[in-house]
Amino acid sequence: MTEGIAGDTRNILDRLGVDQALYTGGTLKSRSPVTGEEIAALPEDDAASVSAAIGRASDAFRIWRNVPAPRRGELVRLLGEELRASKDDLGRLVSVEAGKSSSEGAGEVQEMIDICDFAVGLSRQLYGLTIATERPGHRMMETWHPLGVVGIISAFNFPVAVWSWNAALALVCGNPVIWKPSEKTPLTALASQEILNRALARFGNAPEGLSQVIIGARETGDALVGDQRVALVSATGSTRMGREVGPKVAARFGRSILELGGNNAGIVCPSADLDMALRAIAFGAMGTAGQRCTSMRRLFVHDSIYDQLVPGLVRAYGSVSVGNPLTTQALVGPLIDGVAYEGMQTALQAATAAGGKVHGGERVSEAGPEAAYYVRPALVEMPRQTGPALEETFAPILYVMRYSDLSEAIDAQNAVGAGLSSSIFTTDLRESELFLSASGSDCGIANVNIGTSGAEIGGAFGGEKETGGGRESGSDAWKAYMRRATNTVNYSRELPLAQGVVFDI
Ligand code: NAD
Repeated sequence: MTEGIAGDTRNILDRLGVDQALYTGGTLKSRSPVTGEEIAALPEDDAASVSAAIGRASDAFRIWRNVPAPRRGELVRLLGEELRASKDDLGRLVSVEAGKSSSEGAGEVQEMIDICDFAVGLSRQLYGLTIATERPGHRMMETWHPLGVVGIISAFNFPVAVWSWNAALALVCGNPVIWKPSEKTPLTALASQEILNRALARFGNAPEGLSQVIIGARETGDALVGDQRVALVSATGSTRMGREVGPKVAARFGRSILELGGNNAGIVCPSADLDMALRAIAFGAMGTAGQRCTSMRRLFVHDSIYDQLVPGLVRAYGSVSVGNPLTTQALVGPLIDGVAYEGMQTALQAATAAGGKVHGGERVSEAGPEAAYYVRPALVEMPRQTGPALEETFAPILYVMRYSDLSEAIDAQNAVGAGLSSSIFTTDLRESELFLSASGSDCGIANVNIGTSGAEIGGAFGGEKETGGGRESGSDAWKAYMRRATNTVNYSRELPLAQGVVFDI
């Protein structure tokens, strides 16, 4: 078995052209959650090599910022082509390293392709405004310029898509990127960089150091965060990480995009299509073994339909297939590691102590070797929202609660630290509009009749409060990767001052 998955990994990396020296003989051990076995040992970057990478990126910026944006878009178009060609291999590597089902591994690469397409279009649409000026013979406008070096810190659970959301936009906006992937998923980062290298070779004349990967854990990320030369730090991970990274970047007046934890809820109203709601909840809460930032973690069900919906959900939890994502079609793969498993068990114990009735949550030993952590997803019927239900536990636990008044359910949904994603299941216009209104969901994502997870790249992605406030991906998220200049041009022979101020000398 060891040979199996380690050999499989090496074959994929060979096919993708990743140099073996980058993942053998080093100090960072990479393990596959599928079997718990070691699959690589990567040399790590220290503070000096991170600084050197930032130096190279700074040099690249001086060249890349002057390349016309549509030409920069051509590089991202080629990246999209190379990703299409490598979709199967990279998708499988995502499954090996993050434990996702093959469909979700491939889906993640599809997301990378989609954002490349989006960014190519964007490269011809980095529009500024022309603004009415109060002074005659003047013109006022807004221009968007490249920002500088962009540091990307990413989490294990979307090991490649998050990089592409940032990199595709940053590159067309005229910025070099330096990526510090999760120490739990470094191989997919090396593979993605190699795929980009192929696009760079075809592109021809891009500057050295335009895109780099640095390998290591927190300290490596910290070296990026603390460096004045990094204009924007886009950091995806836990709220704990954001509490450390955010203030450090702010202290040097750098810019940050923080994409942090979620504690996402669904509300099921009396008029809901219950079959559809059940399927959406099942995917939202159990998909990716509950390891999405947008996974559904809380569910408020109206009293009048609780006994129709919840027993069906309990049955779905009992029967969902849990197993090896590489060799079976199981819908639920492994947890990332033993720490995640311990965290899940601690939360379930706390839920029981708070009066919760737990269905599932036990280890599924037959699904994999002892060093892997497969669990049956847990549904917990809670008497009220308390204890572990108020926090994100990064594992498949769904806390289910009753409600009788929609406004109270919305208040309860909003009464947690995180503010990422939310959804309501209803066919009543008044209910859905209330949920989407200013007094409705306080999250960055609010959905109707779909689950909390599975966002499309066209929208701006991110959340409020302890989720960090950042936005990535579609809509006008690109503006965070550029600096805005307001330009006023006087083409008259007079010098009228703004606000009618007189200063005659
Ligand atoms: P994590 O916070 O442990 O690590 C994330 C990344 O931050 C890693 O690369 C890590 O090395 C780095 N890091 C940690 N502390 C740091 C520090 N002090 N300075 C610099 N870098 C540091 O998160 P994880 O376990 O990999 O991922 C799960 C978490 O990520 C969950 O909370 C999940 O909700 C969140 N997440 C959020 C989004 C989003 O878009 N909002 C997306 C994916 C994951």
